[in-house]
Amino acid sequence: MIELFNITKKYGNKTAINNISLFVRSGEVLGLLGPNGAGKSTTMRIIAGYLLPTSGSVKVAGFDVVKEPVTAKRHIGYLPENPPLYKDMTVCDYINFAAELRGLKGKDKAHHVNRVIEEVGIPDVKKRLIGHLSRGYRQRVGLAQALVANPQVLILDEPTVGLDPQQITEIRQLIKELSGKRTVILSSHILPEVSSLCHRVAIINKGNLIVENTPQNLGKSLMGHREIIVQI
Ligand code: ATP
Repeated sequence: MIELFNITKKYGNKTAINNISLFVRSGEVLGLLGPNGAGKSTTMRIIAGYLLPTSGSVKVAGFDVVKEPVTAKRHIGYLPENPPLYKDMTVCDYINFAAELRGLKGKDKAHHVNRVIEEVGIPDVKKRLIGHLSRGYRQRVGLAQALVANPQVLILDEPTVGLDPQQITEIRQLIKELSGKRTVILSSHILPEVSSLCHRVAIINKGNLIVENTPQNLGKSLMGHREIIVQI
C-alpha cells in the first residue's frame, strides 16, 4: 500500500534522509522510530505528498505521490506534528472545512463529517471552539481532519507528543481502533509506544534506516546500536 524507493531529501547541503526504502502492506501498521532530528517528519511529509524528495519515488495505493499528487492524496490522511487547527472555529465548522478541501460536497460531505465525529469520539464537543478544547481533544480534531475523506492510508507524525499521560492512553487506544481498518505509518521517539501499536518497526537515525523488524524481534536487531537504544 505504501512503497518508498531510495528516497533522499537534502536541505541545501544537509542530507535529512538518505536513500530510504520502505514497504508497508495493506492493513499493516508500521512504526517509524528515531531520536530527535532523525528524519521522521521529513519521511512522513514526503509520503503524505507535502514535501518533494530530492530523489527516489513514493507510491501510495498504487499512485505516484510525486507525479500524481492530487490522486494519491485522496487515499492519504495526514496528521502533522503540529496540525494547523483554527482556534476560533468550532470543531464542526473546521471538519466541514477540511471535508470541502478534500472535494466533499452536499450529503456526501455531511455523511463523512458525521461519521468522523463519531469515529474519533468528539460528538460532545462538536459545537465548541477548538481554542477551548484540551490538547487531547484537539488531537482528536486533528485525527478527524485526516480521516474525513475516509482514506485507506493514515500517516501520524508523533501523535502523542505534548499530551498528558491520561490523554496519551486515550489517543493510543483510539489509534488502535482506527488502525484496524487502515494502513498506518506512525512516528514516535518512544519504543514502547510503537511496540504496542505496530506490527513492524523501522528505526531511522541521522537520516539512515538502520533496523526494520517486528516489535518482538527488535531487541536482536538493535544489538550493536547502543547509541540508539539510549535515545528511544
Ligand atoms: P523530531 O523528532 O525532532 O521532530 P525528526 O526525526 O522528525 O525530528 P526531521 O524534522 O525530519 O526529524 O529533521 C531531519 C533533519 O533535517 C534535522 O537535522 C533537521 O534539522 C533537518 N531539517 C528539517 N527540516 C528542515 C528545513 N526545512 N531546512 C533545513 N533543515 C531541515
